[in-house]
Amino acid sequence: MSRTPLVAGNWKMNQNQSTGLALINSFVQKVDMKQDVDVAVCPPFTLLAKVREALNSTHIQLGAQDVFWADHGAFTGSISAPMLTEFCVSFCIVGHSETRGRFGKLEVEEDTIGYFAETNKTVNLKIKSLLYHGINPILCVGETLAEREAGKTESAIKTQLDEGLAGIDGAELHTLVIAYEPVWAIGTGKTCASDEAERICGFIRDWVAKNYPEDDLANDVRVLYGGSVKAANSKELFSQPNIDGGLVGGASLDPTEFAAIVANA
Ligand code: PEP
Repeated sequence: MSRTPLVAGNWKMNQNQSTGLALINSFVQKVDMKQDVDVAVCPPFTLLAKVREALNSTHIQLGAQDVFWADHGAFTGSISAPMLTEFCVSFCIVGHSETRGRFGKLEVEEDTIGYFAETNKTVNLKIKSLLYHGINPILCVGETLAEREAGKTESAIKTQLDEGLAGIDGAELHTLVIAYEPVWAIGTGKTCASDEAERICGFIRDWVAKNYPEDDLANDVRVLYGGSVKAANSKELFSQPNIDGGLVGGASLDPTEFAAIVANA
């Protein structure tokens, strides 16, 4: 097994030009550059240029939070994969529960949730576009609290994987990252217990093994855990055999905390 751990920070819709620059510079100073860990930061689109500059000559990679699947055209408000490649973006989050309109704690009014309309079909189109343009997708999957309570955790995740990765050749997926993000644990302070996170990440790896047996993908694909990861719980989560690092939201906005999480990977 030769998977390099990955810790990716998702800044979500936070930071402006000056606070974002201060955050990334502080993180660059605090993070241990000698570690054998891949680190990525996913700022909002408006900060890609500034963060790119700050990351030049570091080993920290740049990520984006979303993408549109067409290369160009009449898609007002959208950003395409070729646009992201101009900033040397290495990773792009796809299918985050928030872009799917699934919120752990409701922060938007019920009748506006349709705005966040990502489906497994759009996830699939986005992954195909990213792979075509050489950007590694971070595919987020995970169950809502209602699905967990109804005993549908595995079936919900299986559908997200079946449909999100439909029609993609295993040979293209060696750099795929899958993030298990239980919706009820995102931004809520509730972390999934490490043994349960390990069980579901193992389920995801088994899905990869079953669906791509010929490519030995299960040994290459990195499976991350995301959902209220902090320095205090990251060591135990990252020590699980099927958890290859974390997708970190809130804690990635604190450079000391995020550097400590990286140190635990
Ligand atoms: C996320 O946004 O992917 C996430 C896991 O957020 P948080 O760490 O804040 O729960």
